[in-house]
Amino acid sequence: MELARDDAGDLFTIEMIRGKATLPPLWCPGELPTGEECGAKVQVKALHSTLRSAHFAARHEPGCDGASGRSEDQPGDAGTHVDQGLRPVRWKMRLVDDGESHGPDGRHRPDDMVPGHTTRRRRADAARGFEDTADDRKFSTLLIDILAGTIPANLELVIGTLAPQAASDLIVAAADAHEETYEDRSIILWGEVKQMVLSPYGSLFLKLRHAADDVAILVDKTNMKRRGIDESTDLVGRHAIAYGKYVVSDTSGRAHLRVEGGALAFNPILRRPRNAGASDVG
Ligand SMILES: [Zn+2]
Repeated sequence: MELARDDAGDLFTIEMIRGKATLPPLWCPGELPTGEECGAKVQVKALHSTLRSAHFAARHEPGCDGASGRSEDQPGDAGTHVDQGLRPVRWKMRLVDDGESHGPDGRHRPDDMVPGHTTRRRRADAARGFEDTADDRKFSTLLIDILAGTIPANLELVIGTLAPQAASDLIVAAADAHEETYEDRSIILWGEVKQMVLSPYGSLFLKLRHAADDVAILVDKTNMKRRGIDESTDLVGRHAIAYGKYVVSDTSGRAHLRVEGGALAFNPILRRPRNAGASDVG
């Protein structure tokens, strides 16, 4: 799970917790199939480790969308130790949020004290140097860390199959997203939505407050459908984040970011209507 909430309902990423001297009581904000909140007690693990991945852990209620559901563990791994070196500060961004999330190190780890029947335990060894590994992150979580100012120094981001890139090169605030610097480059653009403009082709331009060269995020029909967005959805005032190519239209001369895959998220989170299937769309 990537997010926890405190008693007041405020959301926290693990990076936001890192800067706190005392930990507030934390609860899982995940949603159950019934639409209720999971509310499981959340623990913080490996917060200052350079060997293991800092993460939240909880005993989720069944069906919680905050639970990590995928695992690279194999049957018979129980009690098996795998040596592991230092972890770079590196996040692998999920281009589509629809799938189930990984646990830290790609594992499903329901409880650190109780090995699952397919759970491996990593044994850290600093002498092995840095591992080629990354923590799984959603764009919605990245946006929360951007807004909170808790992006780690020297963070690297992995997008799809691309080599890791410095987050500072890749993440661009709307106010800094000048055409002359970024045209034809793939970047992560973020800003506050000030206006929604439907294109003649049925896609949607999200105009961003104080955007350089008035750059907008172009949400195509596929992503509109995926997110449950139509002309009646009010996104104004939410923050948006997207990864894609910065293009300038040949015909209109307008600058916009063409969203790659499903690499789009909002804060506050936009929940897809229940009847559209899974609810965790970031
Ligand atoms: Zn949960």
